[in-house]
Amino acid sequence: MPKRSLRRPRLRARLRWPALLLALLPALLGPLPTAAATPAEPPSTVIMISLDGTRPVDALGTGLLPSLEALAARGAVAERLVPPFPSNTFPSHVTLVTGVAPERHAIVNNTFYDAERGLFDKRDIPSWIEVEPLWSLLAAEGIPSASFHWVGSEGAWRSGRGPRHWRPFDKGVSEMTKVRTILGWLDLADTRDRPRFVTAWFRGADGPGHKHGPGSEPARRSLARQEPAVAALIQGIAERGLWPSTTVFVVSDHGMASASHRVDLDGALEQAGLKAWVVGIGGFAQVYLLAKDEDARRVDAARVVKIAQGLGLEARFRPDAEPELRVAHPRFGDVVVWSPRGSAMVLKREQREAGFHGYRPEHPDMGALFVAAGRGIAPGVSLASVRAVDVAPTLLALLGVARPDWMEGRVIAGLGSLGAGPPGGDGARSAASATISHPGAGDLEYRKAGVPEVQ
Ligand SMILES: [Zn+2]
Repeated sequence: MPKRSLRRPRLRARLRWPALLLALLPALLGPLPTAAATPAEPPSTVIMISLDGTRPVDALGTGLLPSLEALAARGAVAERLVPPFPSNTFPSHVTLVTGVAPERHAIVNNTFYDAERGLFDKRDIPSWIEVEPLWSLLAAEGIPSASFHWVGSEGAWRSGRGPRHWRPFDKGVSEMTKVRTILGWLDLADTRDRPRFVTAWFRGADGPGHKHGPGSEPARRSLARQEPAVAALIQGIAERGLWPSTTVFVVSDHGMASASHRVDLDGALEQAGLKAWVVGIGGFAQVYLLAKDEDARRVDAARVVKIAQGLGLEARFRPDAEPELRVAHPRFGDVVVWSPRGSAMVLKREQREAGFHGYRPEHPDMGALFVAAGRGIAPGVSLASVRAVDVAPTLLALLGVARPDWMEGRVIAGLGSLGAGPPGGDGARSAASATISHPGAGDLEYRKAGVPEVQ
């Protein structure tokens, strides 16, 4: 019976490989959940990290953040996250956790003036947000959340609800400290304390990007210094066996652009004898006129618009601005001004700045970072663009919470097992068919990072 004697050894040889793979799986994926510990599907957890002022081209394909590249290779990547207008830190971060434009959530810029409350007070940011942020929404659903630095997460919103755990902003805290704290929160035994939604702000490339320009060596070094923290987060999730129930988003709030032409709008208005207060630099500023009389303000506004246009800037008397600019909130002031590509508004003391943002979201360098991987996200998804307003509804969908009607954003289509967005909605260019390939994002890195392949 020569046939049988030949077959048996082959069969045994075939069986050895699956056995070997099974033996290696814990090493590749981290501890697997045991059947006893997970009789049902464990509750989902979503973690969103923001790398401030980081363009996709800064973070992916550069080798500076190999852990992030490995995560991207096994999840979804967008060519650009479209920021809100203005594309500045405070408005954009709040858009990411509310799903509405700044004219709706009312954090219209990093600094602004409110007719009743006066100057924006950063010691109590939640009270200035006019729609319910995710931390409060989720608390109402019995889902605890946590935040280690995110604009608006410093305490309860006006509902009396907010993140279960949060930290006051302290620019001296390292990214590694943030990650260790987050992992500590994930280790909490009591499910009333253990967050299922975590937000955290990383410094990204913003500071050196402003000082030395986008893509500059100091900006690159800044990102490379954050790699160990990104790696520790990914590894920490793997060590806890949490990947099957966890989705990680790594985003940024805006990009960064260099400018060859600088204009001093504030100086020009002062020279023209206008009583006005200019707030904002770079790509966007709002102008508050000090004249009390309504007619006088209109006259002054027309002069401001003319002077700004004379400097090569775009400007609108705010009440007359096109609806698509989304500047309806009175906190935007009397005149809104934005810079075209290649120009930047500067103040005398900030002449040495080399990188700017705040521009219209279409500006090519304003595109922000979007990477998502883990539960609910198919590997190898490549999206052309994702809108910042669509992030919050997507996070809610992953947590099994319905999107409130007032949210402008929709669940991002084409990410994986999530519900599809509206037909023809943003960005689902090639769901799961076209794999973005990043140098250094091969299987080895993926295994090191402990990211599960199948979700
Ligand atoms: Zn920023």
